[in-house]
Amino acid sequence: MKADVLRVKDLVVHYHTSLGAVKAADNISFSLKADERLGFAGESGSGKSTMALAILRMIKPPGRIEAGEVWLEGINVMTVSEEEMRQVRLARIAMIPQGSMNSLNPVMRVKEQIADALRDHGVQLSRHQLQERVRDLLTSVGLRPEVADMFPHELSGGMKQRACIAIAISLRPKVIIADEPTSALDVVVQKQVMQTLARVQKDLEASVILVGHDMGLVAQFVDRLGVMYAGKLVEVSPVRDIFTKPLHPYTQMLIASLPSLEQKGTFRGIPGLPPLLRDLPPGCAFHPRCPHASDRCRTEEPLSREVRPNSWAACHLLP
Ligand code: SF4
Repeated sequence: MKADVLRVKDLVVHYHTSLGAVKAADNISFSLKADERLGFAGESGSGKSTMALAILRMIKPPGRIEAGEVWLEGINVMTVSEEEMRQVRLARIAMIPQGSMNSLNPVMRVKEQIADALRDHGVQLSRHQLQERVRDLLTSVGLRPEVADMFPHELSGGMKQRACIAIAISLRPKVIIADEPTSALDVVVQKQVMQTLARVQKDLEASVILVGHDMGLVAQFVDRLGVMYAGKLVEVSPVRDIFTKPLHPYTQMLIASLPSLEQKGTFRGIPGLPPLLRDLPPGCAFHPRCPHASDRCRTEEPLSREVRPNSWAACHLLP
């Protein structure tokens, strides 16, 4: 059994608004193994991106990490200083953020942006060494070396995304978090970017957390899949099991609502809407939409537990 490289325990994040606390991530716990690809899917506003940002301590006010531990290679990063955390980011755990194509600096050439990331982490290289490093990084993400001298506006969407991946892996992190890395790209380029991510993961022997709203797309890439609902992680299972034997009623309904080539017919969505995160229903947050809801579900919150080997779910129905 491979060792855990990342362990998240009881992570809680709230956004404090004039209308009250928005519980964006509520008691999230999971672990990530060496070389593993773990995905998180759920409707927008389910807390996936908040969780990803919280792991890197990148939550900005009015958001606040209220509780939780994030263990990365034996260190609880929730307890280190801001300066230590700055060194941990990129060097040990790196993020390819949502809309990362716009995260490139428009007035800096690609090579300067990579050099900046390296310098910021104390990497001292001669001009020649830096050139080599930039060329190697660009090649590893499938970009031509000439891209080093280009500005972001000279790159296509897919090239910008690869440049972002090159920056993210510049210090060979052991964990890469990719938050909707292909959301603004067309289907063909999406596939190429995911192949690039798979290749760099293999090269670095890193683990990947992939966050996305498209469950089908995320599932194609990962080994295990977590399903989020209303800020809670309601199920985590190996991908094969989640599609053949989903445990949580929300997961079952999400899968039933996925378009299928075999079964033509009317689209089956999930009735109702997700709850407001600042006004969650008592008990199980899914009970107003759940066809199996009982009185117990309306009053008692189900806790996540290991229902079968390697599969966790939070539902009173489960044995
Ligand atoms: Fe449905 Fe109850 Fe399970 Fe929640 S706890 S998913 S309401 S059966």
